[in-house]
Amino acid sequence: MTSTKQNRNAQNASNSNNVTQEYDAIIIGAGMAGMYQLYKLKKAGLSVRVFETGSGVGGTWYWNRYPGCKFDSESYSYGYSFSEELLDEWQWSEHFARQPETEKYLNFVADKFDLRKDMEFNNKIEDAKYDKESKRWNIETDQGIKASATFLITAVGPLSAHVMPSYKGMESFEGGSWHTARWPKEKVDFTGKRVAVIGTGATGVQVIQEMALMAEHLTVFQRNPNWCAPLNNDLITDEEQKEIRASYPEIFKKCNETNGCFIHSPDERSVFEVTPEERDELYEKLYADKGFGIWVASFFDTQMTEEANVSRTEFIAKKIRARVKDPKLAEKLIPKDHGFGTKRVPLETDYYEAYNRDNVLLVDIRETPIEEVLPKGIKTSDKEYDFDYIIYATGFDPVTGSLNRINITGKNDVKLKDKWADGPLTYLGIQSSGFPNLFTLVGPHNAATLCNIPRCIEQNVEWVTDAIEHMRSEGLSEIEPKLESENRWTQEVITMGEMSPFMKVNSWLSGVNSNVKDKQTRSFQVYVGGAPAYREHCEEEAASGYAGFELS
Ligand code: NAP
Repeated sequence: MTSTKQNRNAQNASNSNNVTQEYDAIIIGAGMAGMYQLYKLKKAGLSVRVFETGSGVGGTWYWNRYPGCKFDSESYSYGYSFSEELLDEWQWSEHFARQPETEKYLNFVADKFDLRKDMEFNNKIEDAKYDKESKRWNIETDQGIKASATFLITAVGPLSAHVMPSYKGMESFEGGSWHTARWPKEKVDFTGKRVAVIGTGATGVQVIQEMALMAEHLTVFQRNPNWCAPLNNDLITDEEQKEIRASYPEIFKKCNETNGCFIHSPDERSVFEVTPEERDELYEKLYADKGFGIWVASFFDTQMTEEANVSRTEFIAKKIRARVKDPKLAEKLIPKDHGFGTKRVPLETDYYEAYNRDNVLLVDIRETPIEEVLPKGIKTSDKEYDFDYIIYATGFDPVTGSLNRINITGKNDVKLKDKWADGPLTYLGIQSSGFPNLFTLVGPHNAATLCNIPRCIEQNVEWVTDAIEHMRSEGLSEIEPKLESENRWTQEVITMGEMSPFMKVNSWLSGVNSNVKDKQTRSFQVYVGGAPAYREHCEEEAASGYAGFELS
């Protein structure tokens, strides 16, 4: 499509709801994946339009603007790696950047590569339907914009469909109240306020440690405690900055060699081949180091078997007992039903110390369940609490949730949501049969979900771009997985998952959110075989001329 036609489409987008805009590709979402996919497809000469619900770029880093929101991956391992110029121009201020800095970074990227002109903000795609006659996807947004394209690429994120609990009376609350993923853009002053936080996952932990310092009084409603470990964040010194700049290629190479694409790699020793002193020495070192080391750089088998994980779990429990002054409270904060690292580990800064403060109260809602939300606060089975604000840090409808919220209909009038009712069926976590030319970046069954996500986003995007370029150069118009490829991959995901410690406990990694009707039990949503193995599968597929797909 010519740029004149594109400009006309852009005009149509704002002026008329009746004209169907036509593109080569439509991307859903202007987060990190959508932005890079747009950049790559534009470079490949396609006409592309991105539709985004929010009013700006950033995805996760646009929506999650709660106090305390920041990276758990090292900033310099998280940014895009595709442009040396970008790497040279951008400077992170902290080892783990806060949300405002990340949002600023993504706006910087959007400006630098002139991405905004191909984006339609404040438009949520509600319907997407494949027309097998024209071999095109037709979409419609909540603002009535209609568009069609050969390729539909979802970049909606695995953790973006936020969910609220369903307590009686929630709508009657007279104070301020919202989910962490829908935090207001205006600054909220919590000085002198009584605040409730419900939920103690990675998000809750970040809010709680910050809110303890801001609110007059904070009450944390905890159902199940999580194993947390220190983030050990710090400013990046000029000296470190120079080193980072000089070693970007090694940083990204190292990331890409590890299973989760973090810069930490596992210790090659088994926990059983070292002395108790050597064991504790490594745990102490990792606990004092920055980032996820204590989770992913421990003895390799601690992340593989329950027996090997026992000493690490005991070590962390000891740390919590040492950090929380009240021994009874410490026990409430220590998980008893799963080992360290079997759920996604929240990283924290003085989280446990927050509970030593006079203005912070922990309510264990397994002992005294929440019965209802009242106009003035929350009623548990034994007491009423008054609040000015209630914050829901209650998580997301994981992985398939964001796709299920779009009405996606394939070539045989089958809805993606229905096809996946008993669990996702995909090939390489990127396509599903019956849905030609639909690519799901960071979709279910993809390694990207369990990854230092931009590293895997870049891989996903580059693979999809190559596939599309291959089709265009061969004059092909449709690509979808062969049924046997889909069955094989789905089985591979299940086989790997069955061996994984993540599947032995309820969390979003095992596909569970207690507030979502069809996510009450565990399901295989994520490929746990690691990013390098996943990448190899994808590369083999491309090298075979996409033999696992039907191409026409
Ligand atoms: P989450 O891990 O699913 O945690 C949700 C929390 O809400 C849990 O403590 C859960 O308790 C609680 N909860 C849910 N429904 C409840 C109810 N009805 N009543 C009381 N409590 C309820 O969600 P999240 O904390 O938003 O984190 C999700 C993922 O996002 C993280 O694991 C991480 O991958 C990502 N994240 C990343 C960062 C970062 O990179 N820095 C920061 C935040 C989040 P139960 O455990 O009892 O269900």
